[in-house]
Amino acid sequence: MIRLSKSVIGEEEKKAVQQVLDTEFLGYGPEVFKFEEALERYLGGGVSVACVSTGTAALHLALQAIGVGTGDEVLVPAITFVASFQAVSATGAVAIPCEIEEASGLIDLEDAMRRVTKKTKGIMPVHYASQVCDLKKIYAFSEKYGIRVIEDAAHAFGCLYKGKKVGSLGDVVCFSFDGIKNITSGEGGAVVSGDKHVIMAVKDARLLGIKGDNEKHKKQGRSWEFDVTGQGWRYHMSNIMAAIGRVQLQRFEKEFKPKRVDLGHHYNAGLRKVGGIGLFPIDLESVVPHIFPIRILGGKRDHLRDVLISEGVQAGIHYKPNHLLSKFGRGYRLPIAEKFYEEILTLPMHPDLTFNEVEKIVDIIETHI
Ligand SMILES: *Cc1c(COP(=O)(O)O)cnc(C)c1O
Repeated sequence: MIRLSKSVIGEEEKKAVQQVLDTEFLGYGPEVFKFEEALERYLGGGVSVACVSTGTAALHLALQAIGVGTGDEVLVPAITFVASFQAVSATGAVAIPCEIEEASGLIDLEDAMRRVTKKTKGIMPVHYASQVCDLKKIYAFSEKYGIRVIEDAAHAFGCLYKGKKVGSLGDVVCFSFDGIKNITSGEGGAVVSGDKHVIMAVKDARLLGIKGDNEKHKKQGRSWEFDVTGQGWRYHMSNIMAAIGRVQLQRFEKEFKPKRVDLGHHYNAGLRKVGGIGLFPIDLESVVPHIFPIRILGGKRDHLRDVLISEGVQAGIHYKPNHLLSKFGRGYRLPIAEKFYEEILTLPMHPDLTFNEVEKIVDIIETHI
């Protein structure tokens, strides 16, 4: 079976976890602070990082930190993981599904513009399939309407925008480190921002809203007579998770990133010659592919998916549009997103995938399209 995605874990991660186990201090502590500092150094740009339990928790706390709550609306592209929508609704706000651009699957700002109301508090662009949204246009849009930007960068760890790392610029940027993302901490996520107030609010809220507890933990202590002023959650990262994340971050630039990029080139070279499919316009100079979706034209997507599975190749669909889900439909259609959903097929992509396997997958597609 050729897996669609997987974690890539070696001896170094195992050793790092063993070391944490040996300290018998498994929870929120020094490994987390070291991982946060390492991420800050890696991203550059003077941003601060707060690590949390999942990417969904990162989005939820980021939204809460900028003041999104009941009665507010946040613009979200219809094509994204349901995590983006659930994070908005977790705050009590309403996620407003927006149309996508046909070629990329990224949020269509013309459509988003028509959905702005007095209640709109923010926009959550999703860097789908590691393609970075046009941040210049996104931030011009947010300035025009006086709203905040929460980038869902779950697919875009290590990607560049005009030569700068995603996360090193922008308002509030959220990463996921779940098992299959560009780096993993087992489960995990991070909120990144240059806005110190946002990061402080996230750091309080991840520890049940206990004021200043975060700083006490840094000095190996904790607050006993504390105050709580807002809603908090149990969303912190653990030492075990952070230990895995630190090793993965060290391996990323020299190992995971070049392998994912090379696999992308290999797929493109093979698939460019195949008719009846569409490739995403990804620039592998700045994109580190987390997933590798292609378009299957002529209504043959489901057929091709069945063939791949019967040949032992897992294939996926990223994503069913969120406005088609009972909880998130708003009573209107989004035809481009719906057509996109019919055509999209995600091929295997992870650093343990071999070039031979890519060639096998290309052959199957070429034969059966
Ligand atoms: C993975 C993912 C998330 C959520 O991250 P988790 O760590 O799984 O909670 C959010 N948005 C997108 C687009 C994702 O792919």
